[in-house]
Amino acid sequence: MTSLTDGQVAELRATVRGQVIARGDSEYDTARRVFNAMIDRRPALIVRCTGAADVMASVRFAREGGLVVSVRSGGHGVAGLAVCDDGLVIDLSGMKTMRIDPRRRVARCDPGLTLAEFDRETEAFGLATTMGTISMTGITGLTLGGGLGWLMGKHGLACDNLISADVVTAEGKLLVASEEENADLFWALRGGGGNFGVVTSLEFWLYDQGPVFAGLVAHAITDCAAALGFLRDFARSAPDELALMGAVLTLPDGLTITGLAGCYSGDVKKGERVLLPLRSFGKPLVDQFQVMPYTAFQRVMDWWAEPGKQHYWRSGFLKELPDNTLGVLAKYGANKAIRRSAFGVEFPGGKASKIAPDATAFVHRKAKYNFLLLGSWDDAAGNAAGMKWVNDFWEEMKPSIGEGVYVNYLGADEPAERVKGAYGANYVRLQAVKAKYDPENFFRMNQNIRTGKAA
Ligand SMILES: Cc1cc2nc3c(=O)[nH]c(=O)nc-3n(C[C@H](O)[C@H](O)[C@H](O)COP(=O)(O)OP(=O)(O)OC[C@H]3O[C@@H](n4cnc5c(N)ncnc54)[C@H](O)[C@@H]3O)c2cc1C
Repeated sequence: MTSLTDGQVAELRATVRGQVIARGDSEYDTARRVFNAMIDRRPALIVRCTGAADVMASVRFAREGGLVVSVRSGGHGVAGLAVCDDGLVIDLSGMKTMRIDPRRRVARCDPGLTLAEFDRETEAFGLATTMGTISMTGITGLTLGGGLGWLMGKHGLACDNLISADVVTAEGKLLVASEEENADLFWALRGGGGNFGVVTSLEFWLYDQGPVFAGLVAHAITDCAAALGFLRDFARSAPDELALMGAVLTLPDGLTITGLAGCYSGDVKKGERVLLPLRSFGKPLVDQFQVMPYTAFQRVMDWWAEPGKQHYWRSGFLKELPDNTLGVLAKYGANKAIRRSAFGVEFPGGKASKIAPDATAFVHRKAKYNFLLLGSWDDAAGNAAGMKWVNDFWEEMKPSIGEGVYVNYLGADEPAERVKGAYGANYVRLQAVKAKYDPENFFRMNQNIRTGKAA
């Protein structure tokens, strides 16, 4: 265990503007908690940074003291890599300033913003850009991994709309990464996760966004294979403005349903027409599609993602989605022993899929189906049964799963090949950028890109 002297900690406290929390402090247990309650790590120090200066000082302090660092923005990463054992947490979750330039349609953001905070600010100007689907998620971890969301068909992924980022490197220096400056680093940040430094500011392109035509139709779980099969076929001809997702989940009243969700982000009248076949399919138990503000749809799934629950996830891009795979989904839907757990398929496409796989570090541009198996239960007593359910299900899905996986959906205990699979054909180029900006792998609490002997 790291032994820091009182003098060292006092020196850090005197250097930074933000709060430094150590073991024994009253806020320690709250400050080390993240979204996934399965993660129970005990850092030596947590620095609640107020700006880039605090980040630079924290990096230098950790280097000199030989401490591992982890970086926390929204704290939503299911693998829990935002906290480390025995090292120093660079906590950016309090950095939440955001400035919109409506004339240039650009947002300059601090790294600690959540999607809800980001969207609220852009909505005031009638603007938006792609972010994820659960509003408590942090914008920074999401963007660095790629950023899949309801607007990706129209505007690309969150990372495709990143204009520049400020990055504190392993040497404790601040660099700007953009197409013009440190372009190799900028390429790597857009899909390469937190491997290269600490991002202290991000700039995004924004777009006009009015209300959306969006919602969900719920089908009986006994119709799971048919409903998801319909969605698979319907998605093939979906316009770029329409994002779709099929999910099996249990509603708060205990009813397990197959939900077909969609968000049409173009003209709402057109969206109503485009979504008519989906809403007319079969015998839905309920149809919640309606015109609503984009920010309202961004929050509709928040009830599922209550923080402080146990989360054990598996995910992977599917090679195809044939009827026999739908049969596996239907089987686990019908025997959904773990109430809080959910699973589903995202259908990436549109603009996100038209960008070249090597244009940014996010390589999975051509993937048609992203399978998410979201194991979740209330407390640790459910771990054995919950993990078994996930692992059994995952085993049966394996023949359909390709090598690729979205880096932000990787779990905490994934083998090295799966981490490599997250970077795919871009891995070698990412290794070169890692070797240039972080040759000693100082930033290793992430889905790690290895270089040199460790590779
Ligand atoms: C309920 C739920 C729903 C989700 N839905 C979506 C979705 O719709 N679309 C989607 O794309 N993803 C989704 N995700 C995944 C999400 O993108 C990741 O969990 C992401 O890491 C969250 O970002 P964060 O800032 O909250 O993470 P944190 O836990 O704070 O960070 C995760 C990792 O990101 C890196 N990182 C974070 N901040 C920085 C920084 N400032 N500088 C350098 N590295 C940093 C670090 O490696 C860190 O370990 C979802 C996750 C959850 C739990």
